Amino acid sequence: MKTLSCRDAGFSCEGEIRAVSEEEILSQAAEHARAEHKVEMTPELAEQLRKLIKDEE
Ligand SMILES: [Zn+2]
Repeated sequence: MKTLSCRDAGFSCEGEIRAVSEEEILSQAAEHARAEHKVEMTPELAEQLRKLIKDEE
């Protein structure tokens, strides 16, 4: 399982995204960013977020 916490991405948000793959995390993050933060996912942002994804057993 992989996780991405929204706070690590610089948002003041308790949101945490969990998924089995980086691609799935990024697609969920895109939806979350748009819905909650009015932020559109860009290739640059996706690249930044990819570095923040943590592995979890
Ligand atoms: Zn968030």
